[in-house]
Amino acid sequence: MLPERTDLLLRNAYVLSLDPDVPDGVADILIRDGVIEAVEPGLTATGDRVRVVDAATSVALPGFVDTHWHLWNSLLRGTVGDAAGRDYFSVKRGLAPHLEADDFYWSARFALAEAVQNGITTVHNWDHNVRGSEDVDANLQAQLDSGLRGRFSYGPRDSAPATEAMDLDGLDAARSLWPSERLDERIHFGVALRGPYRTSTELAQREWQAVRDRELPITMHCDRCLREAGCRSCGLTRLDREGLLGPDVQIVHAVHASPEDVAAVARTGTKISVSPLSEMRTMGFPRVTEFLEAGVLTSLSIDTLAMPANADILATLRALVCTEYARTGRTTLTPRIALEMATIRAARDLGIDEVTGSLKPGKRADLMLLDRTHTSMLPSGDVTDGLIYHGTSAAIGTVVCDGRVLLRDGHLVQPSARHAIESVNQRRDDLLRRARDAGTWDD
Ligand SMILES: [Zn+2]
Repeated sequence: MLPERTDLLLRNAYVLSLDPDVPDGVADILIRDGVIEAVEPGLTATGDRVRVVDAATSVALPGFVDTHWHLWNSLLRGTVGDAAGRDYFSVKRGLAPHLEADDFYWSARFALAEAVQNGITTVHNWDHNVRGSEDVDANLQAQLDSGLRGRFSYGPRDSAPATEAMDLDGLDAARSLWPSERLDERIHFGVALRGPYRTSTELAQREWQAVRDRELPITMHCDRCLREAGCRSCGLTRLDREGLLGPDVQIVHAVHASPEDVAAVARTGTKISVSPLSEMRTMGFPRVTEFLEAGVLTSLSIDTLAMPANADILATLRALVCTEYARTGRTTLTPRIALEMATIRAARDLGIDEVTGSLKPGKRADLMLLDRTHTSMLPSGDVTDGLIYHGTSAAIGTVVCDGRVLLRDGHLVQPSARHAIESVNQRRDDLLRRARDAGTWDD
């Protein structure tokens, strides 16, 4: 099902390496056995296995890295809307119990196909609807079959009561069934916890400790304050007091973080993932400037396809850079830092910056070629500024992940990825019908 790895010599690309050890500028990139072997001008290909690509009109940059994305609810796109009872959380609650294992697989494949079209090569699959081992298997298989790199964060089932403990035995079973070799060394495990705002303090402590005992990375949403009148702080100082922050923890959103919260996050080495578009539609403004100025590792995420968002990283970053300026009047978030938030800083958040996130010899070959002669990149100027201020995913022609070409001439290479897109309306219709039959859905 996966395309074979291709040895490639990309000639004369404008390389935006995002790596301090590799200067930006025109160079060749040699990829062999899924590894970036060299990045420098004037390389020669040896052996007939190497396919030479003229990349003189392209920018080569690392594949984008997403740090939080609920792949399972991609089928909800188009159903969520502004009508009464059609907000994201209501639709999610109504439909979540009715996804079958196949839906988990194809919902994830659909989202991952959109990821590839937008130059994303790593996705943090944030599964907060684990209903059983079958859907965990479906999610992992989907990530594996997509050819992308990523993390699978095992969570509770959607709308689980605050008193219901997570099924950590299920987590252990999944980890022993899916060792790293079976996951092609591309996917690793994490855990999505609800934390003390969604469960009792005692349960939160117990679950946090259980995950730490397993030495797995933790991720948690910090968004609850939206629905609590008068509350402006998402309470990260409380997590700090309870010993729940740290470099093993990623906090998602934190749009209401107070200065004390930001300081607590910075002091403890906790990481922040922001999803600008879904946040602005449902929560408030991201606090990227404050987190950056405090030295917090901050990265970009898609969140969900069901809210006003898509996988277009360049458009999302453009919105973020402009919003941060409008909100703060400061230019802390430069185009360069924005690009890093979706590449090397994001890879660092996921603990895989030795493997991906920049174009450096020795790293895995996760990259894209973007057409510099596309209208959006003309007249030409500074490449980084051009990408962030004007760039579009429509200019992305080639996407390579782990040495496999997944997008060629702007088209998805895998028939299964195209099938995921072609069949998604039918699958959504079937899901709605099942929910209707069960009495949890009204058209
Ligand atoms: Zn989320």
